[in-house]
Amino acid sequence: MPTSAKKRDYYEVLGVSRTASADEIKKAYRKLALKYHPDRNKGNKEDEEHFKEAAEAYAILSDSQKRSQYDQFGHSLGGSGFQGFQGSEDAFRGFGDIFGDVFEDFFGGRGSSQGGSRRGTRGADLEYPIQISLEDAAAGKEMQIEFERAEVCDLCSGSGSASGSQKTVCHECDGHGELRVSQGFFTFRRTCPKCQGEGEIIGKPCKTCKGGGRMRKQRKLNLKIPAGITDGAQLKVSGEGEAGVRGGPRGDLYVLIQLREHPVFKRVGNDLTYELTIGFHEAALGAEVEVPTLDGQVRLKIPQGTQPGRIFRLKDKGIRDLRGYGIGDQLVRITVEVPERLSPQERKALEEWGRLRDAAKKK
Ligand SMILES: [Zn+2]
Ligand SMILES: [Zn+2]
Repeated sequence: MPTSAKKRDYYEVLGVSRTASADEIKKAYRKLALKYHPDRNKGNKEDEEHFKEAAEAYAILSDSQKRSQYDQFGHSLGGSGFQGFQGSEDAFRGFGDIFGDVFEDFFGGRGSSQGGSRRGTRGADLEYPIQISLEDAAAGKEMQIEFERAEVCDLCSGSGSASGSQKTVCHECDGHGELRVSQGFFTFRRTCPKCQGEGEIIGKPCKTCKGGGRMRKQRKLNLKIPAGITDGAQLKVSGEGEAGVRGGPRGDLYVLIQLREHPVFKRVGNDLTYELTIGFHEAALGAEVEVPTLDGQVRLKIPQGTQPGRIFRLKDKGIRDLRGYGIGDQLVRITVEVPERLSPQERKALEEWGRLRDAAKKK
């Protein structure tokens, strides 16, 4: 919690031992969540803090990977390890998920965790795959993408009602958007199924969106692909997903990067590999050859007696690292070509060379 100076130990928060089983942790959390849940303690700040504290502890201890990290490092990992609880919006979503999970069996579904009438429902995240060339991945690229997504309905501004049509108070829940359900001596609240937590019923639904409050629209977006991007990377564009329902926040857009295969280069990390084929006379005598790189042709000196499979390193001719950790190299691997056909003169010259070679060996 940002307000408290010192974070309490998560096991202490839930009142369980360090060796508690997953089931014990769940039970302990459920007990605390019932006691401190905001729906039962409207406006009590202290209870809300207790609830958040318990939810955070549960989020970590119920996840075996996070729990073992926490066991090893305690709260010191706070920044990177348990990031989910740093931003307030994320934190809220976190509670919703946990809450939904733990209370599902009570409510028979995801109850008030999904937002209900006051906040609306967050729009869905979208995924947009794009293919880019190796050259564009190396240099970075600005491009425009176009996709379809849900937008707030123009006609009804998201209310879902036809103009002039009045909304009426939902009789099922008397406008609260929630119903009280008793189980044993507990009383729970659940989202009203009739009005979906709105507290109101639409009289005449909007013609364009049929009462949903959203419509499909094309969206054009300028995208900056950073130099050095890798195959399989995801670019998150916050707030460019689908519009929320009834004033809920937008989802996010994830651009999924796929690298197209290059005709001559292969990428290995930030290095590039290139296969260079030379004649066997060039390998034997040495030569100077042209080699393509991402920034044009360069000359490469092949020393005499170069063996097949030898690798030459062209320094800094690879890809600039995405996070600025230097530049990769281009690795040139030598293949030696043996001629399949010889002209009569070539044959004569080679035979002569062969005789000289044999004579030299016998000495
Ligand atoms: Zn509409
Ligand atoms: Zn209702």
